[in-house]
Amino acid sequence: MALKESGVCSVCGRELKGRVFNCSDGVYCGDCRKKAFLVFPGETADLHTADEVREKLEKYSDAIANRDRVLKPEYCPVCSKKLPKLMNLRILDDYICMDCAEKAAGFIGAGYDSVSCMLLSEILPLFDRAEVRGGREDSDGVFVEADALRVAFPLIKTYGEDEFDVVFIDPLDSMSPEELKKASETAERRRAELRNIYGRHKAVFCVDDIAKLHSESRGRVFYRDEYRISGRVLLGRIDPGDEAEVRRKEGRRVLKIKKLGDCRSWVSDLKELKEGAEGSVFAEGALSFVYPGDILYID
Ligand SMILES: [Zn+2]
Ligand SMILES: [Zn+2]
Repeated sequence: MALKESGVCSVCGRELKGRVFNCSDGVYCGDCRKKAFLVFPGETADLHTADEVREKLEKYSDAIANRDRVLKPEYCPVCSKKLPKLMNLRILDDYICMDCAEKAAGFIGAGYDSVSCMLLSEILPLFDRAEVRGGREDSDGVFVEADALRVAFPLIKTYGEDEFDVVFIDPLDSMSPEELKKASETAERRRAELRNIYGRHKAVFCVDDIAKLHSESRGRVFYRDEYRISGRVLLGRIDPGDEAEVRRKEGRRVLKIKKLGDCRSWVSDLKELKEGAEGSVFAEGALSFVYPGDILYID
């Protein structure tokens, strides 16, 4: 904050009265700053130039003017589920549920405070894009299912603030409809290549890591006869209850898949692991014969 006796607000041009504030290249009035805090996330408004602040205030002038008249809707305008009383996020011109807020934050690669500075009309297209995960039309209007492409175009994992904050980037989001059309051929070719190498099976899983599970009680560690084997589904689909075979020169070993999880270690209740997915299979018994780099054949 700076005190100034005279002059005009670098943002709105009105005469400055009372408290004035510094933006990165000038001073602005309390009224402009209050509005700026609605459209810039966190405390970042003061870091912008007067031009940047003015541009944003103009862009969102309607939403800012009507902000106090927005009523909390009964249903989330994104997912149409009932809007929880507490678990919701105020955005510029509406309210959305925290589930959708979390997804939106993931899509833009930023925090809730950035989502809260957006209009519903800016948030909805993010979800349209994400629908690519279910599939998309190619340039001939043929619907291509995303699941059918994952063999060659798996979701790309990245991390948010910490290792628990896993974010997936969908390579299909950045494909043009023409590229999408070629993607089907690429996926089919890749599948044929893998079948050449591994043969035809219900599923083929490549092991990256194996961990013996344990529980802790009163400072003591108890190892369980249960393992989490993580890796990627190269081909096919794995369901709980499937049997997996490890092939060695000295013979074959079979393990029964009890549970399935994704790449987060605490998840173990997935109903399936699809082709191209990174995830883990849980199995019981003495599994000292499974190593990173192994291939599990599921039939
Ligand atoms: Zn002003
Ligand atoms: Zn929602």
